[in-house]
Amino acid sequence: MDDRELHQILKKEFGYQRFRPGQLATIKALLSGQNALSILPTGSGKTLIYQFVGRIKPGLVVVVSPLLSLMQDQVNRLRLAGNSGVAMVSSLLDPVSRHELINHLDHYHYLFFSPEMITNDWVVNQLRRVNISLVVIDEAHCVSAWGPDFRPHYLLLRQVMLALHQPTTLMLTATAPPRVAADLVAKLGFADAAVQIIRQSVDRPNIFLAVRQVASEQEKLTKLRQLVTRYGGRGIIYFSSRKLATKTAEWLSQETGMSVAPYHAGIDAVDRYRIQQQFMNDRLQVICATSAFGMGIDKDDVRYVIHYHMPKSIEAYVQEIGRAGRNGQAALALLLYSPGDEQLPLMLGQVKLPSDDVMTAYQQHQLELASLGDSAEIIAFYLDHGWQPNQVRHLFTNRWRATKQQVGQMLTYATSSGCCRQQIADHFGEQLASRPLLCCSKDQADWQKKLQLPSAGMQVDHDNKFSWQSRLRDLFNLASKSSDHLDS
Ligand code: ADP
Repeated sequence: MDDRELHQILKKEFGYQRFRPGQLATIKALLSGQNALSILPTGSGKTLIYQFVGRIKPGLVVVVSPLLSLMQDQVNRLRLAGNSGVAMVSSLLDPVSRHELINHLDHYHYLFFSPEMITNDWVVNQLRRVNISLVVIDEAHCVSAWGPDFRPHYLLLRQVMLALHQPTTLMLTATAPPRVAADLVAKLGFADAAVQIIRQSVDRPNIFLAVRQVASEQEKLTKLRQLVTRYGGRGIIYFSSRKLATKTAEWLSQETGMSVAPYHAGIDAVDRYRIQQQFMNDRLQVICATSAFGMGIDKDDVRYVIHYHMPKSIEAYVQEIGRAGRNGQAALALLLYSPGDEQLPLMLGQVKLPSDDVMTAYQQHQLELASLGDSAEIIAFYLDHGWQPNQVRHLFTNRWRATKQQVGQMLTYATSSGCCRQQIADHFGEQLASRPLLCCSKDQADWQKKLQLPSAGMQVDHDNKFSWQSRLRDLFNLASKSSDHLDS
């Protein structure tokens, strides 16, 4: 199929005039039977890629996705687009329906699985009986991720792919520096040469990048209230602590009268879903969230993403700020940093290992899971899959070293004087083609002067009386350390 035919299908079947960067190259690779790793920024249309292939190639498209809400959203979108035979196989499905579905896989065209579900032996055996046109691993960076919230079943996907005789595979992610890309390809059992990597720049020229150093928590809160009030629009504020996310949401809504809600994994699934929907439908202005919020959020008018706490890595930061300005309009990513903030991601990244004796006793069924401590489940995963205690210790020691390095890189971003955009590009091994006039600010930058000028890479909302540029200007007057407008 040549490019002209592919463009025709895009117009006729999907109603789009042109492919977005990265889409066509990925589709062509997959249609020719090549595996692909597509590293495309949030909002660039990754879903279209597998829908397109699913439309052309006969057989089942299997999508592995880490979040129920993400799967549900994709299922709804595919059904709305007129596709039939779309379903998700998840813990939400009652056992009888699940059984029924898995016994009739050939009735489906798109099936979504969690990593835990697809690594089940019975599911794999059933999948072996059907013709699979494509396996999609969404949010593929999770394969290479780490931390107490890591989903170890991602590591078993390699065996699943082998059992399924390595069907054509599409790995999708918004953020993967070369090191992570190589790691995830290897962990999924592919040779480097067997995967075509399609990479678009992580740079988002319409997002103004800012860091503000503050002296204390109190100053952070004061600044936050001022920013949110002055800024208006929809925004996400990220916290590393569930408690603080909840407390700050309450406080902000009292202080500002705005509609603010918390979102984190400690809130039950139904409420989380409700909050997400309220935000999507503009019934909430601000979300105070932990990193649990955002994957797959397809809201295009998020005007700012503020980090109250430093995230655990530059990859995580880029992923989270990528939720701002998806409509191409000017948006803001602001990191508030106060000395010592790096301790929190370090603390959260730490996994306390029990002694080798305890691990051995667990392996010999002499001790319960709980005896493995706070990170019991992740440690048990390795022990249950045949790892020896000394191998587990070695792995965790290496991971801890990597965690410290990642937090160190984030700390450099927060505290050094260099250009934010350049630092992110360097981290991802990219050359910056150009820098927008509204580039970044680390307290002292001359952004005010630049804001007077028409800006490249910036679309201004001309219908809006409060022009977006003047809002940004206000905002940074307010956010600047030396500002004398703090009480205005
Ligand atoms: P991602 O998964 O990369 O974050 P999505 O797949 O959610 O992005 O797509 C973001 C939006 O872009 C969706 O509303 C989708 O319909 C739209 N989109 C996808 N491809 C195109 C295209 N070629 N032209 C215009 N819009 C597109």
